[in-house]
Amino acid sequence: MNEREALQALRALLGERGFLDGDGAGERYLTDVLGQQGSAPAAVLRPRDTSQVSRALALCHAADLHVVTQGGRTGLARGQLPQSREVVLSLERMSAIESVDADAGMATVQAGVILQTLQEHVDAMGFLFPLDLGGRGSCTIGGNIATNAGGNRVIRYGMTRELVIGLEAVLADGTVLDGLTPVIKNNTGPDLKQLFIGSEGVLGVVTRAILRLVPKPADRAVALCAAPDFLSIRALLRRARSGLGGELTAFEVMWNSYYSRAVQVAGKAPPIAGGHPFYALVEASGADAAVLSRRLESTLNAALEDGSVLDAVVAKSSAEIDHLWHLRDISIEVSRLMLPLVPFDVSVPVAAMEPFVNRLNAAVLALDPRCDTLVFGHVGDGNLHIGVHRPEERPELFERIEETVYSLVGEYRGSVSAEHGIGLLKRDFLHHTRSHAEIAAMRALKRALDPKGILNPGRIFVPSETA
Ligand code: ZN
Repeated sequence: MNEREALQALRALLGERGFLDGDGAGERYLTDVLGQQGSAPAAVLRPRDTSQVSRALALCHAADLHVVTQGGRTGLARGQLPQSREVVLSLERMSAIESVDADAGMATVQAGVILQTLQEHVDAMGFLFPLDLGGRGSCTIGGNIATNAGGNRVIRYGMTRELVIGLEAVLADGTVLDGLTPVIKNNTGPDLKQLFIGSEGVLGVVTRAILRLVPKPADRAVALCAAPDFLSIRALLRRARSGLGGELTAFEVMWNSYYSRAVQVAGKAPPIAGGHPFYALVEASGADAAVLSRRLESTLNAALEDGSVLDAVVAKSSAEIDHLWHLRDISIEVSRLMLPLVPFDVSVPVAAMEPFVNRLNAAVLALDPRCDTLVFGHVGDGNLHIGVHRPEERPELFERIEETVYSLVGEYRGSVSAEHGIGLLKRDFLHHTRSHAEIAAMRALKRALDPKGILNPGRIFVPSETA
């Protein structure tokens, strides 16, 4: 079967709503949130259920068509952008929340359900789906699973991996792996679902999942604090861990380079004056509002007394909570102020963060004194988001900045991707975090499950390595 015949068969299989010609598919399938462009796909496939995904992939496999899978297209590693006439497989029509089991605390969903839709659906039933991130209004559960998304509450609930109980995935040749077993305890050999969580669609397409829900905490307490130096941030984190225990839900830090811009983008009076070196957003949640507030306030009072916190504001209403979180949620808008930007999403141990950022700043300024750095992140999880602005007329600087930063990450035994994934953006730097033996094992898995290399080709691995 050649490409033309395969596309005809796909059109017949998926019908008018399920098959779009590549030329007429529109911008939405080509662009990411930072405005990066892919190239025109051969077609866009929009199956409505697992059976259609399976039959469509079988056709693509028979005709050697390369396929790129898309969820909400909010990924920041360019993995979802179509390359040279790939076929886009969009899960956007598979957006059903199939069932919620209130006894077990589980929801069964199709991969294309939008994160916020699921959050709101289960909230009305007294549950929390703990995953939360700035892209919640457009990102999909399938994309969250394929990238093992992290976000704002990892310190308490873990990454997406910890929230997946069962998984259905379709292999490159159309084989359906039904791992939708609705039980927590299931020691029956290798846990195949883990292969598809965080592997960015190179081993198979996630189609449905059973997700873990927790009882919705009755209340939240949120504070924003200003700190004089990073040692004080570390002291505050230790204090928050011991003072708030299991109720500590988020510990986000904004360097002043971020906070001052976020205040400008938000366009409202800042909750705490700008100009301090560091700002920490601390959230606790639990069953008893009075206990929560007392614990948060005593944590902050102790930090104010010993000088590790210079100023603090505690939100008094849910509107004030939203206002504080808004400053952290608008990171994409803040990053756009820094274009052209070299983006990073790295992990380093918390104790190493200050020297890491100082050395990074010095190194990029040595490459060009006009570089400027934006730093913020989930410090409670050891995860920093960094944007390095580079001068417009020096595009070649992009690669030198990347090599400089990733070498530093390797020195501190950190990760070149904490939560965004490798995609096309970071594949050249995988070796700073994963050994040759590990990469060889990953490639062996890829060859075993997708021998023709049709799924998300070139993502994670450089193309010659997947051959
Ligand atoms: Zn993040």
